[in-house]
Amino acid sequence: MPRNIFRNIFIGLILISIISIGIKKSDFNEIGIIQNNSKSETELNQNVVSSRMTYGRFLEYLEMGWIKQVDLYDNGRNAIVEASSPELGNRPQTIRVEIPVGASQLILKLKEYNIDFDAHPAESKNVLITIASNVLIPIIFVGGLLYLFQNSENFPGGNGQSPMNLGKSTARFERRPDTGVVFDDIAGIDEAKAEFEEIVSFLKQPDKYTIVGAKIPKGILLVGPPGTGKTLLAKAIANEADVPFFSVAGSEFVEMFIGIGAARVRDLFKKASENAPCIVFIDEIDAVGRERGAGVGGGNDEREQTLNQLLTEMDGFKENKGVIVVGATNRVDILDSALLRPGRFDRQITVNLPDRLGRVGILKVHARNKPLGEDVSLIQLANRTPGFSGADLANLLNEAAILATRYKKTSITKNEVNEAADRIIGGIAGAPMEDTKNKRLVAYHEVGHAITGTLLKSHDEVEKITLVPRGGAKGLTWFTPEEDQSLLSRSELLARIITTLGGRAIEQVVFGEPEVTTGASSDLQQVTNLARQMVTRFGMSSIGPIALEDENNGQVFLGGGTAQGLEFADSIADRIDEQVCKIVSYCEQKAIEIVLDNRVVIDLVVEKLLDIETMDGAEFRELVSTYTILPDKNTPYVSKFD
Ligand code: ADP
Ligand code: ZN
Repeated sequence: MPRNIFRNIFIGLILISIISIGIKKSDFNEIGIIQNNSKSETELNQNVVSSRMTYGRFLEYLEMGWIKQVDLYDNGRNAIVEASSPELGNRPQTIRVEIPVGASQLILKLKEYNIDFDAHPAESKNVLITIASNVLIPIIFVGGLLYLFQNSENFPGGNGQSPMNLGKSTARFERRPDTGVVFDDIAGIDEAKAEFEEIVSFLKQPDKYTIVGAKIPKGILLVGPPGTGKTLLAKAIANEADVPFFSVAGSEFVEMFIGIGAARVRDLFKKASENAPCIVFIDEIDAVGRERGAGVGGGNDEREQTLNQLLTEMDGFKENKGVIVVGATNRVDILDSALLRPGRFDRQITVNLPDRLGRVGILKVHARNKPLGEDVSLIQLANRTPGFSGADLANLLNEAAILATRYKKTSITKNEVNEAADRIIGGIAGAPMEDTKNKRLVAYHEVGHAITGTLLKSHDEVEKITLVPRGGAKGLTWFTPEEDQSLLSRSELLARIITTLGGRAIEQVVFGEPEVTTGASSDLQQVTNLARQMVTRFGMSSIGPIALEDENNGQVFLGGGTAQGLEFADSIADRIDEQVCKIVSYCEQKAIEIVLDNRVVIDLVVEKLLDIETMDGAEFRELVSTYTILPDKNTPYVSKFD
């Protein structure tokens, strides 16, 4: 705290000195001149001496004999002259002239032209002040800056470091890591866990491995989407192996100044080898390890130097003396291949999003310290959350706990868990809509999605329909997602397109073409996207099984791989558009058909929905099934479309 006060005083001083430097400058020009000359002083104050003249022009005036009198100030650096010339209307005027340094001939010249001149020396009582302002203030200024540099903990942009220490590693270091994470806290990523357990065993008993000639990898690269537990794994090995743990983010090596990143890498590895056996964890390693010379705007010297240093350091320790480098990234595709060569990050462990059982495991881990009500089924919750990462699941249970506190409950019930899941998937709920024509339209729109999804064999089941706005959407139809989202059949894709178009189709049928709204714009975007991918990526059109675009088509290229997209002729481009249109219009037709065929039950559901706001999937199916036969979603569906 006292140091902070000091710092503030210094900042204050610096400000003062900046201000006084400003004043000093004007001193020279004005105050200095008028010190001893009451005549000029009044003139200056009355702004009479506002006109200026260059020295060159002054000499011309001198030669022309237009100068009447000269008063010199500041050791001859400034002069106030009285001149009259035809240019000036032949009236005597007072003009200021700045005299360049080294114009020592001036006095001789003035004598030569017989000009009346007078020199005004600076007053001696001001000498001290002058010295003070000329010397002391800059010293305070520079001294203060140095002080700030050396002491600042939060100097802007300094990573909380003094700029004098820029080359020092910023890694957080724990000699006896108490990360609090044990392998038991990690679920759903068993392969990665097994791999790490082996490394822990190496760190604990290296002899057991070296005796049979086994070498433990120097570098392990954890690859996987964010939030899947990569950091958690690294923390767990440090804790379980009980070895020092260095943790740093790749972005901390990326600095503005060339050489600093490399110096930090060197420093980190120096410290690590002093503390071996130990673990160095580099999160987001892609920040340094991106392929050299790739990416928008070409290479980046600083990053390349840093990467080279990293490569050198990893080669440095020939046999693994126990420094294990664990890198984590979600973009292995953009990493420089040199990083992945044997002897560096030679072992890659993929950490995937957890599957259903994995999610149950992770939910169990995070439910340990939370009082769950008896009606909460973690299995059901896991069913509802395909695509959730470990971090998402942890977040979900935490949200539920917060909601339970808000509702003053002593345990977390199904209600809070569902609300938390809704929030995370769909965003925060807004206030219910007023009963207007729009609300009715939204109700129809959502029922349009629900009815098509329900009556198509290959579509996921409706979980619920709601008119409670959430995350920008005015109403939502939730479907229970199928477990494996990575492998979709053609009929599943078509069913998705039809269902997504269902909202728009119902608007058309019920309210008529002129009343169709803008509400379906994101639906349409999705539809177009899906249809296009069917044609260009999945070979699901009459163009045939050709990959015409890749996954990242249309995105800014950010390093890695080859830069050019897949090329095709204009004629193919036309055919792509044609096929996309064909798919979409087929699906639109289908959606309209389903809506027309089920108009009676649709109207019924809408009335009910407007009343209760949220309808459960089971209730919806029940209602629909009294009017029509629901498809058996478990038998394969054969699409007739071609
Ligand atoms: P990553 O480093 O892969 O981005 P983290 O390891 O930082 O993800 O995970 C963030 C949080 O998510 C963890 O602190 C933990 O609470 C939770 N989490 C993620 N994966 C798991 C898992 N497999 N088991 C248990 N908790 C997990
Ligand atoms: Zn919609």
